[in-house]
Order: sequence, then C-alpha cells, then structure tokens
Amino acid sequence: MKQIPPVDLTRQYQLIKEEANLAVLDILNSGRYIGGEAIATFEQEFANYVGVTECVSCNSGTDALFLALKALNIGAGDEVITTPFSFFATAEVISRVGAKPIFIDIDLNTFNLNLAHIEQAITPRTKAILPVHLFGQPVDMTKLMAIAEAHDLYVIEDCAQAAGAAWGEDKIGSIGHVGCFSFFPTKNLGACGDGGAITTNDPAIAKQMRILKEHGSPSRYRHDFIGINSRIDAVQAVILTVKLRYLDHWNEQRQRAAAYYQELLQSISSLKLPQALSGGISVWNQYTVCISDQQSPPQEKRELVKHKLQDKGIVSMIYYPIPLHLQPVYQDLGYQKEQLPIAEKAAREVLSLPMFPGISEVEQERVAYALKDCLLEA
Ligand SMILES: *Cc1c(COP(=O)(O)O)cnc(C)c1O
Repeated sequence: MKQIPPVDLTRQYQLIKEEANLAVLDILNSGRYIGGEAIATFEQEFANYVGVTECVSCNSGTDALFLALKALNIGAGDEVITTPFSFFATAEVISRVGAKPIFIDIDLNTFNLNLAHIEQAITPRTKAILPVHLFGQPVDMTKLMAIAEAHDLYVIEDCAQAAGAAWGEDKIGSIGHVGCFSFFPTKNLGACGDGGAITTNDPAIAKQMRILKEHGSPSRYRHDFIGINSRIDAVQAVILTVKLRYLDHWNEQRQRAAAYYQELLQSISSLKLPQALSGGISVWNQYTVCISDQQSPPQEKRELVKHKLQDKGIVSMIYYPIPLHLQPVYQDLGYQKEQLPIAEKAAREVLSLPMFPGISEVEQERVAYALKDCLLEA
C-alpha cells in the first residue's frame, strides 16, 4: 500500500509548476541572482499580506530571530521569556546574542506559552517576550501585548510555523514589535530552499536590521558594526512571490483537513486532540495529538503507536521529543525535571499526523482507522 508521508511538497508544486518554472527561468536568464527587483517585490507583497509597513528578507527563520534580537539591542545581561516547547532555534538565538532564555510552562490545549506564568518570570533584566505560534496556532496576542506593555517589554513573534494565522482581525507578525518568519520548505509558506523574513511597523528597527544583515554596512564599504551576511536568493524570492498568492488557499485546505481529522478521531477517548482557540485563526502547520494512557508510561505507548503506524505505511512525527529547558546544552541554566511539567508531558505524548495541502480525505481516513487500530493494539 502506498505510504502516506508527513508532508508531500510535490502536490503544492503541481499547482504552481508553470508559473514557478517561468519565474525561475526569468531569474536564470537575467543574471541577477542576488538582490534586485525580485527581492523588493517579494518584500513588498509579503508586507502587504501580513499587514505591516516593513518586511526585511533574510536567509532563514533563525536569522530572522537573530536579526530581530540584535536590532532591539538585546544581549549580555538581558533575559528573554520564551517557551520550552518549540524548535531549538527559538532559544538558540537568544543564547547566541548573549542573553538568557527564561522558559515558562505551556498550555496543553494549544502547546503555546501559558500566559498566566509570564508575570512571575519578569525580572529587572527582562527585555522581551518571544512567543511561538506553534504548529500554526496563534498565541492570544491581546493578553500577551497587555502584559508586555504593562512591563515595557518587546514582543518578538516567532511566526515560523504560522504564516497566514491571525489573532482577531490581525495577522500574526503584525501585532508584536517584530514578526519572524521561516520559509523552510515545509512551513506554510515554503521556498525551494532556505529563506526568512522579519515584519514590523517600525522603520527604525527595519533599517537597523537591513544594516545588520549586510555586514553592519549602511552604505557600500562602510561598516559601522559587526553584522552578518543574510539574504534570500532571487530564485527563492520569485518562487515565494508565486506561492504567496496560494497561501490562503493552502491554509484553507489545512483547516479543512484539521476539521476532518477532528471528526474522524473525536470518539477515541485515549487521544487528546488539538483545539483551535476561539479568537484566533490557526493555519495548522501540524496536526498534533497527545497519546495518553493510565496503564503504561505514555512515552512507551507513543513509540509503539508510531511504529505500528509506520508498519501500516503512515509516517508520523514527534515534534518535539526533548523540551528546550532539558536540552544538554542548557544544563547550566539549572532547570530540573518536572519543573515545567506540561511541556515535559507534551514532549512525552505528542504525535503529529500527516498534514499538508492536498492530503485527500481517503488518506486521512486511512490515517484515522490505522491510528484507532494501533491504539487498541498498543
Ligand atoms: C523552522 C523554525 C525556525 C527556524 O527557521 P529556519 O528557517 O529553519 O531557520 C524557528 N522557529 C520555529 C518555531 C520553527 O519552526
């Protein structure tokens, strides 16, 4: 039987093939591979889409976060409050600028920061909050911005998995001081290689980021400080410009697929299904369930289910098996096991099911029936 992968990017490509091929050929023929019109056009269109005045493109989501922290002057001696349940880059960039990540526990319904824990984590050294809209689910930005404003903190949104998601009327990436996006191929808006962008309504921050990403150089061969080299290729920019026009369509397909999983799986009592927060629009980068069990340790049961699914041709993923506060590299931060129990529970129990634009109902039914069987057997 044909395998169902966690993500199938070829189905997106089929839809944009002619347009994307032509756009790429144009770039190849133009000889202009770095910078130029293609970059400016993408930045303008992405800024319009997110609903901000400024978009600064760069090489990756990781660089976007790094540039944002640097431009806000966050560094040694500063603390940044963030989630322990995310891709490593979220915390890594905080450490890379010399600041200290402060992890607070998450909410199991959304897998996002539990905002109730933020205020007790604020110290005189706190400079910013770095929320992640994990799996495409927006954080409650109304509450988060109120806390940030009350304590005079910056908000850097990690939007890597949530291009197109919204809180209320506003797209994520337009609510905090800066929004950081990744265009890694499997993200909702994915390039055919690496790419990233930062969105903001603050022209001074945007200007600073533009200088930083070009070797600290405000004008050619003059260098005011140490920066980095971070740019998106023209080929990726034109592909993204084409794909941006399909983003809402693809996100709707993800939303439909999520609703169908919900319908297919809701009767299984040993599964905890993800819930969309009212007030937000999730774009379902992942559809992630929790496998809990009173009898055997949940981690063992999850592994068993994952292997049994694999035997039936269904590839599921574990995002993320080790919470950030328990990563070996962060041992010296001094977090103990069970200190952030919900994040640790999530790390033990989560399983992400196949989710991508173009997944068929028949495939989802196969996933659901196989999962039911596996849970009974496990
Ligand atoms: C993908 C991702 C990043 C990093 O993006 P890259 O483009 O791979 O550097 C950062 N944060 C989160 C939550 C991500 O999912």
